[in-house]
Amino acid sequence: MKFVFLKYFFFIIFYNTIKSSPIQPETETTEYLHWDLNANDFFFKSKKSYSENSWNNDFIKSDFKMISSFEDKFLVDKEVVNNGSAFIVEFYCHSSVEDNSKCLKAQKGFLSATERISSLIVINTPIVVQATFLSYCDVKSDCSSKILGQAAPSSYFGAKFINQEQISSIPQALMKQLPKNNIPNYLQFDIAAQFNADADFWFKGDPPIKTSQIDFEYCITHELIHGLGFDTHWTQFSSSYPQTTFKEEYLAPDVLVGIDENQNDRVLNFLPLTIFDKFGYDSLTSISLLDYANSILNFDIPVNLTLKKFLESFENSKEPFMQSVYVYQIVTSGERAVTFKNPHNDMYNLKLYTEKNYQKRSSLAHLDYDLYFQTPEFLMIPSVESFKGMTLDQIIDQNTKNGANGPHNVLGPLTIELMHALGTATKKDFK
Ligand SMILES: [Zn+2]
Repeated sequence: MKFVFLKYFFFIIFYNTIKSSPIQPETETTEYLHWDLNANDFFFKSKKSYSENSWNNDFIKSDFKMISSFEDKFLVDKEVVNNGSAFIVEFYCHSSVEDNSKCLKAQKGFLSATERISSLIVINTPIVVQATFLSYCDVKSDCSSKILGQAAPSSYFGAKFINQEQISSIPQALMKQLPKNNIPNYLQFDIAAQFNADADFWFKGDPPIKTSQIDFEYCITHELIHGLGFDTHWTQFSSSYPQTTFKEEYLAPDVLVGIDENQNDRVLNFLPLTIFDKFGYDSLTSISLLDYANSILNFDIPVNLTLKKFLESFENSKEPFMQSVYVYQIVTSGERAVTFKNPHNDMYNLKLYTEKNYQKRSSLAHLDYDLYFQTPEFLMIPSVESFKGMTLDQIIDQNTKNGANGPHNVLGPLTIELMHALGTATKKDFK
């Protein structure tokens, strides 16, 4: 089967350690959040000071124009914020998209996609999305790209529950839903997203969808859910850092890299695994992948090493490195090798997408294809192959004959519960 992957992308992340300070809860906050992610239970460990990658560099070029900010349409009066859309989308259409009407149709897709999402989750502080639409062929010289879109949280914050050791990376979009006191500086955008204008997209209002076409709105909703935290920091170092030497394939938490005064990269630490990663278990043994992560994090971080030297040192560590090789073996043992479990619901398990060949940016950060592509949980599978020639509404209708999602609901009940576990307040309560 030919897959068209919906890939997502990480920024290179730089953290500045800041003094830990407890959040003082505000009186109205308890209703924001859900079971164990109570605002009282957080403290900030570190923050990302800035991000930098080729996407942002793209914006320096003058040929990007922001065709509009959706702010007027999206900012809903505070009184009714929970009933309306709560996204602010700054939409940039690149000059490589010659057909201006296509820009406008793409722009409209965001309006509809974000309304779908905000009908299911509670957003108190508007989520700011930077979205760009560009020709990958013209701009990136990638003319045979199968990538439809990419998105990621623009920033993460380290936080932990008060009674737990483990610090997780919380995406900025979720962090902003917490009470306002002691909030570190946020980046301007919560989610960065990019879409390939060369893809054969169908837009709402077009003539009937062709068998080759993919509904643009499907891609937007999928990518925005990544941006809301459906995301992993487990990293295959051989593909993410190909300039480094390695002995064996391994998966370890991504690294925090800083730049010293001489512009040399310096590894500061491992990046905390994401809140999403917190729920990943070896399907065979039911051992939490966090247990392996803890062994990896026992690695005594050498001070002031370049990335290359750091990795050499890590790969020569005995136990930590062995554990990271072992995680790779688990994750590449075949399909459905990792299960997303909800510790508050014994009956709950979702199989994450894994296969024998590790798929950079895709393994672990999607749901299993075969199990879910015909179910209400279809949105976060790694490929749109089955949905060519179908509009998003048709996909929903086909996959939710029992009405599990309710009308036009793009997230299935299990995916909503997953988002809830990550810390997203949802319009349905879970115990
Ligand atoms: Zn994806």
